[in-house]
Amino acid sequence: MEMIAGYKSPWMTEELEILESSVRKFYEKEFAPHSERWNKQGHVDRDAWNKAGEAGILCASISEEYGGGGGSFAHEMVIAQEQGRAGVAGFGNSVHSGIVAHYIEAYGTEEQKKKWLPKMATGEMVAAIAMTEPGTGSDLQGVRTTAKKVGNQYVINGQKTFITNGQQATLICVVAKTDPAAGAKGTSLIMVETDEVEGFRRGRNLDKIGQHAQDTSELFFDDVKVPTSNLLGTEEGKGFIQLMQQLPQERLIIAVQACVAMEKAVEVTAAYTKERKAFGKSILDFQNTQFRLAECKTEAAIARVFTDDCAMKLLEGKLDPTTAAMAKWWTTQKQCEIVDTCLQFFGGYGYMMEYPIAQMYTDARIQKIYGGTNEIMKMLIARTL
Ligand SMILES: Cc1cc2nc3c(=O)[nH]c(=O)nc-3n(C[C@H](O)[C@H](O)[C@H](O)COP(=O)(O)OP(=O)(O)OC[C@H]3O[C@@H](n4cnc5c(N)ncnc54)[C@H](O)[C@@H]3O)c2cc1C
Repeated sequence: MEMIAGYKSPWMTEELEILESSVRKFYEKEFAPHSERWNKQGHVDRDAWNKAGEAGILCASISEEYGGGGGSFAHEMVIAQEQGRAGVAGFGNSVHSGIVAHYIEAYGTEEQKKKWLPKMATGEMVAAIAMTEPGTGSDLQGVRTTAKKVGNQYVINGQKTFITNGQQATLICVVAKTDPAAGAKGTSLIMVETDEVEGFRRGRNLDKIGQHAQDTSELFFDDVKVPTSNLLGTEEGKGFIQLMQQLPQERLIIAVQACVAMEKAVEVTAAYTKERKAFGKSILDFQNTQFRLAECKTEAAIARVFTDDCAMKLLEGKLDPTTAAMAKWWTTQKQCEIVDTCLQFFGGYGYMMEYPIAQMYTDARIQKIYGGTNEIMKMLIARTL
């Protein structure tokens, strides 16, 4: 169903439409049939990464010289959208390709890019970003993990939690203090290749209310030694700036995912309420259903147009952090509201996991929390008042 008659995202090109159709087929054929099993086992199969690599889904927006697809961030958005449409929320590609690969491409030395990006593009390596700790999430300056320079090594000590891809990642970008006395200016990003070190331990694959196929986990670092050449970039203390620079595009990906979820919720609910009968009518014949779904469709359309505007700005290198924060909080807020409204029209079936709307409901809730909570987004916007 079109949310706006004849509307096409202004960043969509013919080439991207071809990608869209092939990624849609890939997710439908290769991932969707395993979705339920992956949800039960708490992670995607490891070889899902290799299959995605072969299909060109990993690192699509990374330069070809580093094994990537040579596309723009629009490629990443198309891929994220199709994953949402297929309902395979647990596959942590947005973190792998949309975040970590971009950190490496943007800040890494030539040697680092050549070492890690090609393996990420094939799925030989799975990547994670480890910022959050049990004691600090929103207030990242409070990170307590340390990376102490000893000779030509960093010795990392600390604990991380809620880390996407935590069980499968073999390349982890760790946010650590190289100078604990210097606050934000003492924060650095250090890459840990988990197969190469001792003292690294994975904790629990956390039991979440949604995104069950995602192996969000605890990680422990006890005297983990990595070469100083694993510092991302060449200068210590740049971690905070590096994190901040990437935030607009990370938040845009979340907004894009929210748009797809809203559109899908309206579609599946319109279809269901047309079929389901009560009091001799379709549920959609009740004016309450019509009005609520009309509101949902309108909001989904507004979300899409605003997100598309952000996407155009991003592709032109002009998406500012405040506008990205607006997109992130508003679209995810609306996603949760719309999915909740839609679920209601399924009655008891909406509470059953075999109905996609139920999974969309449990998957949606995290969107208001990760990528910077929606309260933090409003704080950023309020600073510009
Ligand atoms: C499924 C999942 C995946 C995740 N993936 C990753 C990942 O890959 N890597 C990673 O590093 N982290 C990840 N996270 C962590 C996520 O980014 C954090 O949970 C989030 O940033 C919030 O931090 P917190 O949980 O410590 O909450 P807190 O910071 O403790 O916040 C608690 C509440 O207080 C509010 N609050 C905090 N400060 C303020 C303020 N100044 N003004 C008003 N309200 C405030 C918050 O908005 C929130 O509502 C993930 C989390 C989940 C659940």
